[in-house]
Amino acid sequence: MTTVSVIGGGPAGCFAAKSAAESGAQVTLYEEHARIGEPVQCAGLISKKGLLSLMKNDGFVINTIRSAKICSPNSRIRINCADETALVIDRAKFDAACARGAEEAGAVIRTGCRAKPNRMKGVIIGADGPNSTVANLFGFPKCGPFVSTFQTDYENVEIEDGHEVSIFLSADFRGLFGWLIPTGSDTARVGVGVSPPLSAGKAFQKLAGALLNLENARPISSASGVIPLFPRSITAKKNVFLAGDAAGQVKSISGGGIFFGCTCAGMAGKVAATTASANEYEREWRALFWDDMVLHYRIRRLMNSLSDSHLNALVEISSRVGVPRLLSRYGDMDLPTSLFSVPLIGLPARFAYNVFNSLFPIRS
Ligand SMILES: Cc1cc2nc3c(=O)[nH]c(=O)nc-3n(C[C@H](O)[C@H](O)[C@H](O)COP(=O)(O)OP(=O)(O)OC[C@H]3O[C@@H](n4cnc5c(N)ncnc54)[C@H](O)[C@@H]3O)c2cc1C
Repeated sequence: MTTVSVIGGGPAGCFAAKSAAESGAQVTLYEEHARIGEPVQCAGLISKKGLLSLMKNDGFVINTIRSAKICSPNSRIRINCADETALVIDRAKFDAACARGAEEAGAVIRTGCRAKPNRMKGVIIGADGPNSTVANLFGFPKCGPFVSTFQTDYENVEIEDGHEVSIFLSADFRGLFGWLIPTGSDTARVGVGVSPPLSAGKAFQKLAGALLNLENARPISSASGVIPLFPRSITAKKNVFLAGDAAGQVKSISGGGIFFGCTCAGMAGKVAATTASANEYEREWRALFWDDMVLHYRIRRLMNSLSDSHLNALVEISSRVGVPRLLSRYGDMDLPTSLFSVPLIGLPARFAYNVFNSLFPIRS
């Protein structure tokens, strides 16, 4: 029986442990914190389609999202979704459900256990987050750039629409954006992600102080953390695989990592337990997500290059040419290449994308 050691008990680690155990391996997962899922460093927004492809709701969905308001400094557009396209989850409960899934499949979870070389036996899956010790220990190449984030949960918030997320684009939030995600009728997560040298704390003060009406709101808790924006050029070698944020498997338009990370981690666990082939894992996850990750990253880099006046123009032009309607109808929060299947627009867009890619390749 193959032995698999999973380092990190976030969602990616739990998915890797579950699929390795289901594929017949003897699995031990090591998590440095005393409790799985805590502390929380996440806004908890995930596409309904993405979540349902991973697991069924086990009591961790706390809100449904029906529209998104995208605000530049002077303009705004609204993208309505016919269905509840996105869900807000309680990350601590979600992570606990992921861990239960791994244990039910037969994995052993050791909490309060930091990864040490003597604990890493058999095939090692490093799912230990953006500052991966496993990646450093085994000399993996670095991830793409990082953004730093700061987020606060508030209660007693005046919310216009409890099922609408607001995204704030500005050169002050270069790197990612600011967000307000309603978690209930008068509760919300407010946060910001920025690239260095910008400070997430200062950007947050601008967002919470000037852009939002938080006068009567009470802060409940705050969190900070980093998000990698592009995968490492190598995520598996010999008997060591990386998955989730440790590998940089993130959607860099939004910074969301749950869907890509857990899906890839599931593949890592299965390959680790069966063929244990580093090449196979690397090939499999890139075949599924590479095009989308590259498109995410291209769009992210374009957004990062825009000034406030460019962002205003982008939002205004998008509104005039019907982008909100196009996104409402054909958009996919996870897989931007889905727009290439839009009748009439898809083919020329795919052609332009291929030409652009061949002129300015991003290396895997
Ligand atoms: C502020 C913020 C908001 C976000 N919002 C969203 C969002 O709305 N939607 C979304 O999809 N994604 C979001 N993300 C990203 C998302 O949180 C991550 O992509 C996701 O948590 C990655 O899961 P993971 O299991 O790879 O890593 P993590 O969740 O970071 O888990 C890694 C685990 O490994 C453990 N660990 C680390 N080192 C060791 C060690 N040496 N030994 C043992 N254990 C170790 C850690 O304690 C941790 O539990 C957000 C991130 C931030 C920072």
